[in-house]
Amino acid sequence: MNYDHKSIEKKWQEKEHFKTEDDYSKPKFYCLDMFPYPSGVGLHVGHPRGYIASDILSRYKRMRGFNVLHPMGWDAFGLPAENYAIKTGIHPKITTADNVAKFKAQLEKIGLSYDWSREINTTDPNYYKWTQWIFLKMFEHGLAYESVLPINWCPSCKTGLANEEVVSGNCERCGTAVTKKDVRQWVLKITKYADRLLEDLEELDWPEKIKEMQRNWIGKSHGADVLFKLNNGKEVKVFTTRPDTLFGATFLILSPEHSLVSGVLDDLTNKQDVVSYLEETKNKSDIERMEEKTGVPLSGLFAINPVNGKQIPVWIANYVLSSYGYGAIMSVPAHDQRDYEFATKYNLDIIEVVSGGELPYTSEGELINSGSFNGMKSSEAKDKIIQEFDVISESINYKLRDWVFSRQRYWGEPIPLIHCEKCGIITEENLPLELPEVEKYEPTGTGESPLASIEDWVNIKCPKCGGSAKRETNTMPQWAGSCWYYLRFIDPDNDNALVDSEKEKYFQPVDLYIGGAEHAVLHLLYARFWHKFLYDIGVVSTKEPFLKLKNQGTILAYDGQKMSKSKGNTVSPDDMIEKYGADSLRVYEMFLAPFEDAVSWSDNGLVGARRFLEKVWNINLIETNVEDKLLHQTIKKVTEDIEGFKFNTAISSMMILINEWTKTGTTRENFNLFLKLLYPFAPHISRELIEGDDISWPQFSESLIEEDTVTLAIQVNGKFRDSVLLTKGLSQEEVEGIALEREKVKKWISGDIKKVIFVQDKLINILI
Ligand SMILES: [Zn+2]
Ligand SMILES: [Zn+2]
Repeated sequence: MNYDHKSIEKKWQEKEHFKTEDDYSKPKFYCLDMFPYPSGVGLHVGHPRGYIASDILSRYKRMRGFNVLHPMGWDAFGLPAENYAIKTGIHPKITTADNVAKFKAQLEKIGLSYDWSREINTTDPNYYKWTQWIFLKMFEHGLAYESVLPINWCPSCKTGLANEEVVSGNCERCGTAVTKKDVRQWVLKITKYADRLLEDLEELDWPEKIKEMQRNWIGKSHGADVLFKLNNGKEVKVFTTRPDTLFGATFLILSPEHSLVSGVLDDLTNKQDVVSYLEETKNKSDIERMEEKTGVPLSGLFAINPVNGKQIPVWIANYVLSSYGYGAIMSVPAHDQRDYEFATKYNLDIIEVVSGGELPYTSEGELINSGSFNGMKSSEAKDKIIQEFDVISESINYKLRDWVFSRQRYWGEPIPLIHCEKCGIITEENLPLELPEVEKYEPTGTGESPLASIEDWVNIKCPKCGGSAKRETNTMPQWAGSCWYYLRFIDPDNDNALVDSEKEKYFQPVDLYIGGAEHAVLHLLYARFWHKFLYDIGVVSTKEPFLKLKNQGTILAYDGQKMSKSKGNTVSPDDMIEKYGADSLRVYEMFLAPFEDAVSWSDNGLVGARRFLEKVWNINLIETNVEDKLLHQTIKKVTEDIEGFKFNTAISSMMILINEWTKTGTTRENFNLFLKLLYPFAPHISRELIEGDDISWPQFSESLIEEDTVTLAIQVNGKFRDSVLLTKGLSQEEVEGIALEREKVKKWISGDIKKVIFVQDKLINILI
């Protein structure tokens, strides 16, 4: 009989259903994939790599008696569907539904064991009702506030972007260079959680690389705030991590956006230069501003260095960003690379105050040219200088900024707030506040979303005073729905609460979370922030949402490039499944490299996986019952490898066994044990071949795999005190060393050892 993957896979995909019960008597295992944005292009073979791994873990845990929650849904708000609507006039709702159907069909063909009864979609009003609810709770707790900000602005998408959405100065979505624009925004106070987001990272079993990215993004640094008096009576506050270098601060730089700048223009002797410089930097992205350091002095203005009373010039410069510190820095060119370049370029004073090496010398050392602090070590001088001057105080600074949370677009969750002239901002009582139908999806480009042009939706009666009021027309960013979706899977149909608290206590936290590393400082940080807020208001019972995180490596195209539709180098899983089968695809994707490594796709490799399954299909069953050591070694190896995320070596050990059996044949009983090992990897063929309905995880026989070990007895003065499992052939000295470390032996040993009797691989007798 031929291995006909098509009929087998169809049969088992129809037969096997996976429904998670709220059965609290069993241990639970919550295994989650990062849910996808259902794009029109569909999946390529790189996408399922993570899904297959989570499916293996889910099936394996079920076999071990766990109540496994393994759900899937759609993160479906976002720009592609909206941009498509602008081009075609087709409502994003329709496009989204089509794309979801396509994605789901693709996932089902791979044989992923999701509980589809829990499917969610972030664009479903019954879902975003709760996204809006969380926003309102944040608003009530003072964590959402309005602000007119110079925000990152994509001139092509005509919308504001979060810092996290700007990649190398460009829009993460469309690649256009990002500029600055003053827009009224809703902002979430993620900075209030900075310390907790930092500290609780330590409890997480996440890749160190991701944790480090979050630490750097939060960017906590210890230092000092220093107030510089200006000759016009005003003051400028700066933050420095190096108060020990204050004697070397030879000029002050303000960012072009610093609030002080506009007020001093008329007093400057070079007003025209400054005005044109401000114009010039306004339209540059942060990255462009970093590339070439330029600046202009504020002539006529100077500051007093508080430690030595010296007058120092004040400049504005592009590389000082309003978003860091207080938007102003003290420049210490002798001990800072950027300040050094700037001072050299504009011929400004450079005074060395820490001895140690060539300029700019940026490490710590011994102070010079620093008055009474000369000769002190940097670390000591930092404290002493902070203590000595009233205008200098200890301070902590963060790189993390509050999260610009509103978008001037249509296809997002409406922000459920109402602006009343009399009452101010009030909250919408009836959730969900649904997206109204619009005729045009184009953003207005004025900083207002397309919702602003729907007059009968925007203009309403104030629910409080009955006067005229307006709805908020900004929508939420695409990241909103994914901040809490893992909670909704626990209780997807609950109309009365975001999640039932008893269910939440049972299923939370997510035990294993699998997805791409590109979400390190976006989704993975935002979700932790929302979770901590939900913890504070008693909605969730754990401090962190995701206990263990794994990032799959990228699967590259045949040519080693990233797969993309525009390059025309994508490989579709549909074609591969049609030709070789889902089981072959699954085995190949797990076999091709360690899970976290990037690797190129190869059809030949897939053919190899297919051949392995054909060998399984054709195993010769024999009657003779022999104990099969290799089988039990394989059981042990596969068990350990699944737990350790080493799917490639698990498969290779199964291949070794099958190659052996291809020569010798095996018994029905042994074959059944093997098929259960194979089941999480290649479920369809395994279920077809397994005899009986029991698919519990096989146990290996300890005695069978212990061929290289012996149990050695330890005696003290001829009395048995302990036994130990050891590699065969150890010398007397080695065994004596091990024996004397055993707790059960130690307590019988007092005084000198007089003699040791040793019988190789059998016993050691210590005489005292
Ligand atoms: Zn853009
Ligand atoms: Zn009112």
